[in-house]
Amino acid sequence: MVTERLYYSDSHLIEFEARVVDVTDRVSGWTAVVLDRTAFYPTGGGQPSDTGTLNGSRVVECIDDGDNGVLHVVQGAAPVREAVVRGRVDWARRLDHIQQHTGQHILSQAFVRLFNAPTKSFRVMDASCEIDVELNNPTTEIVERGVELANNVIWEDRQITILNVTPDQAAELRLRKEPVREGELRLIEIEGFDLTPCGGTHAYRTGEVGMIAVRTWERAKGLTRIEFVAGMRALADYRKANKSAREMAALFSTGRDDAPQLAAQMVEENKELHRRVRVLEEVAAGVEAEKLLATAEAGIVVQVFDGRDAESLKKLAHALMTKPGTVALLGSRDKDTARLVFARSSDAPGDMSVLMREACTMLDGRGGGKPEMAQGGGKRVEQLEETMRLMKQKLLEG
Ligand SMILES: [Zn+2]
Repeated sequence: MVTERLYYSDSHLIEFEARVVDVTDRVSGWTAVVLDRTAFYPTGGGQPSDTGTLNGSRVVECIDDGDNGVLHVVQGAAPVREAVVRGRVDWARRLDHIQQHTGQHILSQAFVRLFNAPTKSFRVMDASCEIDVELNNPTTEIVERGVELANNVIWEDRQITILNVTPDQAAELRLRKEPVREGELRLIEIEGFDLTPCGGTHAYRTGEVGMIAVRTWERAKGLTRIEFVAGMRALADYRKANKSAREMAALFSTGRDDAPQLAAQMVEENKELHRRVRVLEEVAAGVEAEKLLATAEAGIVVQVFDGRDAESLKKLAHALMTKPGTVALLGSRDKDTARLVFARSSDAPGDMSVLMREACTMLDGRGGGKPEMAQGGGKRVEQLEETMRLMKQKLLEG
């Protein structure tokens, strides 16, 4: 082995001295440094790489190159071959990974103990972690029972031990999962609870994990994907969840715990209000139609509004269509759009669709519909009044 992996024997070692074995420019101008020993954990087994410094230069990532050792990707001044360097691992990031990874071992074993449901894969992501568990018929209650057991194991502050065993010795042991590598095995033992082959960095005792909380779960490819947070991440996630819950509650001028009920109530009220608005709009359109009819010349109503939407224009047109011998030419203008709705009662003359196409041509737009009702619009807002006047004239001339 080129690189002695110090993190295998002590997950809390963050300062060390080592000799530079190899230096290569491998990653877009950054330098890859191989040491004879390292406390830096390289990406692998679901756990992200450590970061830190080598003689003060940033180590941005570490890559496991198997028998060729651990590559430390260094940004800035890199040491030369044979130099003795001082390495320092970022502790906050390491502790975070310890909490997530040990948390995962505990949570995974909890689902085995309670539901005989093994974990198939595990990932530490930026803000949370995921495990894919062979859990049939998951419910929130079932998932929370696993979380409950895991947290009890955390608070029992059990001892965690690293065991190095031969494959023959391993064959005699009850491991939570099959070893993926050959030769001597590294096992992580959580006293009286879990025994798993793993190369990751783990807590000294379960208490260090702090707590585990599940953010969400879903069915994924025949497995149950559980998103969880452990330790410091659980606190960060609690703060975030509490902040959004309180902001939501403030909108209802109430406390955090009463907000969901008030929100549900408001959604219901809103639906009811929408129903009532629709009824009132019908009534208002009827009244407005009567008023407009009084201004009609030969049964033709012509009216241009400002900023009236298509839905509202149509409602008014529908109200006018119910009046015998009536044609309604309705328009509305916004800053850069002219909207039109033409409609007539079944006994009135004229093809609204033909009339609409003609009007839309004048407005540099498009429109169409049926003989009794048509709608459209265009860009030449300043032409709207003139267009309406011409369409009325056309109707009068028959
Ligand atoms: Zn592991």
